[in-house]
Amino acid sequence: MTFNDSSLPPVLPEDAARLAATVAGSVLLPGDAGYDDERAVFNLNHELTPAVIVVPESVTDVQAAVSFAAGQHRPVLVKTTGHQIVGSASSAVVIATHRMNDITIDAACRSVRVGAGVLWSEVIAKTTEVGLAALNGSNPTVGVSGYTLGGGLSPTLGRSQGYAADHVRSLDVVTADGELRHVTAESEPDLFWALRGGKGNFAVVTALEFDLFPVSRLYGGGLYFPGDRTADVLRAWTAWHPSTPETMVTSIAVMRMPSMPEVAEPLRGKFLVSVRIAYSGTTADGERMIEPLRAVAPAVLDTVRDMSYAEVASIHNEPTDALPYYERGIMLREFPPQAQDKLIELVGPDSETDLVMAELRALGGAWDREPKVPNAVATRGLPYSLLGVSAGPLSEEEQLKMSVANLLDGMKPWQGARRYVNNLAPDEAADAAAIYGPERYERLASIKKTYDPANMFRLNHNVMPAT
Ligand SMILES: Cc1cc2nc3c(=O)[nH]c(=O)nc-3n(C[C@H](O)[C@H](O)[C@H](O)COP(=O)(O)OP(=O)(O)OC[C@H]3O[C@@H](n4cnc5c(N)ncnc54)[C@H](O)[C@@H]3O)c2cc1C
Repeated sequence: MTFNDSSLPPVLPEDAARLAATVAGSVLLPGDAGYDDERAVFNLNHELTPAVIVVPESVTDVQAAVSFAAGQHRPVLVKTTGHQIVGSASSAVVIATHRMNDITIDAACRSVRVGAGVLWSEVIAKTTEVGLAALNGSNPTVGVSGYTLGGGLSPTLGRSQGYAADHVRSLDVVTADGELRHVTAESEPDLFWALRGGKGNFAVVTALEFDLFPVSRLYGGGLYFPGDRTADVLRAWTAWHPSTPETMVTSIAVMRMPSMPEVAEPLRGKFLVSVRIAYSGTTADGERMIEPLRAVAPAVLDTVRDMSYAEVASIHNEPTDALPYYERGIMLREFPPQAQDKLIELVGPDSETDLVMAELRALGGAWDREPKVPNAVATRGLPYSLLGVSAGPLSEEEQLKMSVANLLDGMKPWQGARRYVNNLAPDEAADAAAIYGPERYERLASIKKTYDPANMFRLNHNVMPAT
């Protein structure tokens, strides 16, 4: 059986009250105080209107929420931050995990255990106190859970260490039957494989344990050049990065910065091409290595420096407050000169694009290697991820989508066969088979059938249970 959102009636107050009596956290119906705060998401163009929201304090609260959803034949959507929500969840039980925010570091074992609601900013603040670093993403406001379950491309250490999902040691999850399971490579090998890359399709994750690395500083930051030098900078970067060691992680972004007070003065309202640098070797080597990039053109701003790992968010310098946007990405299987020319045509100074950002991350290295315990991450062997971001209100939705489509359609001749689930837009939820590739998808679907046969966890880039 599959759930049908639209045909489900609202949750009755008496049913919500019965659920509330069994949980320590909050149970909120539309109209209740706190409901609007709990349904808020990072992307202001996306509105969640859940039938009921449960804000758990504990694993048993999560079990109660899942059992309630099963009893009412409702889907469940887990919200950490709402960076990548699929659907409005109008008939669903939304589990908002932010109160499950414990962080326990085992410095001797170089690992950390975090609750489901923990953000990267919170992990970075704690791990850097003991000279360790995790495979966090570019933006500290992103949640550890969604990011890691989707793979987790770290723009600081990923090229030498691989995906964040490759370094997960264990997960505590509540499956659709309401069972709490401690999932490791030994205890539940199939589920362990699927959760790491298959994202929120299999269970509600209540805690994750993963590796930390002895990195306390980086040579990193951004080189911001005038956008009219896009062609020179892009060609120089493309020729340069393959010769660098795996400890150098880099990306390039063509940006049309909005004229908002939130944007720092030298960049506000500017058209720029930015090269991001995160080098975990010595400062002297890093400086030497990026000399050819610094020589391409005079920079508008150069923030590349020796920095404490605690400052990593300044490398990409992304917005941290909720805002209205649309973003979508593809993987490139190659980036030859014709592709470079095309990208310059699509987003360079002579283009008419209104994208706020077109970002190309150089991958390879450990991102291509299968981890010791393989997982469902689908994008190994694809050397670039390309992301288009447009910003503006929902009233401009069509234009926002079209701007991103122009970029990604233009680069289609070089697109890789699989996709990176963390860079998918909400409206691409139907494409999971193409995202993962047929063999991987078949295995995911078979595991889904075992653990979530009724497809309770389907408000996502959905893997359907095998038939
Ligand atoms: C500004 C910005 C920067 C980013 N930078 C990077 C980056 O550097 N590298 C990268 O790889 N990605 C990056 N991302 C993408 C990011 O990884 C995804 O948006 C991810 O889904 C965010 O996870 P979340 O938990 O914060 O979001 P949410 O929107 O709360 O969750 C997204 C989905 O993840 C699943 N999920 C979340 N928590 C749980 C849980 N506890 N149990 C089960 N399923 C769960 C659910 O399906 C949920 O719908 C970035 C996104 C933004 C907006």
